[in-house]
Amino acid sequence: MAISGTTVLYGIIGNPVTHSLSPAMHNAALAALGIDAVYLPFPASDIAAAVTGIRGLGIQGLSVTIPHKESVMALLDTVDPVAVKIGAVNTIVNTEKVLTGLNTDWLGATRALEEEIDLSGAHAVILGAGGSARAIGFGLLEKGASITLCSRTESRGRRLADELHCPWISLEESDRLRGDVLINATSVGMVPQIENTPVSEEVTSQFQVVMDIVYAPMKTRLLREAEAGGCKIINGLEMLLYQGVAQFEIWTGKDAPVSVMRKALVEVLARKK
Ligand code: NAP
Repeated sequence: MAISGTTVLYGIIGNPVTHSLSPAMHNAALAALGIDAVYLPFPASDIAAAVTGIRGLGIQGLSVTIPHKESVMALLDTVDPVAVKIGAVNTIVNTEKVLTGLNTDWLGATRALEEEIDLSGAHAVILGAGGSARAIGFGLLEKGASITLCSRTESRGRRLADELHCPWISLEESDRLRGDVLINATSVGMVPQIENTPVSEEVTSQFQVVMDIVYAPMKTRLLREAEAGGCKIINGLEMLLYQGVAQFEIWTGKDAPVSVMRKALVEVLARKK
């Protein structure tokens, strides 16, 4: 679609953002539905100035990435209650200069999982205690799942487990883990250390569904071993995809073209290899 005087602007703010996969995914979706809009990366080191720019330029919707997901919250007019619990915003909606912050990371993770399993009443084990583990943990609670948190650093892990009102165990004791769903929310297994894995095959064999949020490589060692052991597997691209699907639907009010967006992500990742 040609850019004109009526073209709507969406984008992503963060620092850095040049490597972001979101422009490819969102522009493919906008083009597929014939929506007169574009999605651009905006490298932003000064988040307050960037938020002033959203209002000033009438940017309709923004993704927010590192390092601004927490600091942006105080600059918005309203923040969705789940985003408040998570303590991070990855999505801004601009409705006539009123800026609302939301978090779709949890929606991305839970929607990817729900393609394979009913989360209500399921027991999930989350590996890791960082920002993604936090969003996924609160998301699983929203969906009625129970959780065990398992991570490397005890103080950080116990702090998050207390907030999630769930048990914590050390990664060193991972052979005790049991459940329906296992989610790797650590960076273990990511390029270039692709032969690393957070837990053994004996551990993955205790679960029906194994999801890895690492998406480079697309099939981590954890997922390869889980698949060989008969588990259903979900790769990190699916969480990235569905958090974008949720953003697209919030911004445009239309059903997102999921397969178009997945294809765009796969293509852009293949070009990065
Ligand atoms: P983060 O806040 O830095 O947290 C990283 C977590 O990984 C921490 O709990 C850390 O352990 C743990 N960890 C790191 N190296 C480890 C190791 N060698 N052994 C055991 N644990 C280790 O990062 P994040 O933002 O949550 O992101 C985590 C991963 O998810 C990254 O690889 C990121 O690229 C990926 N990600 C994917 C998506 C998606 O949509 N698919 C979205 C966001 C992030 P400690 O608790 O001991 O510090």
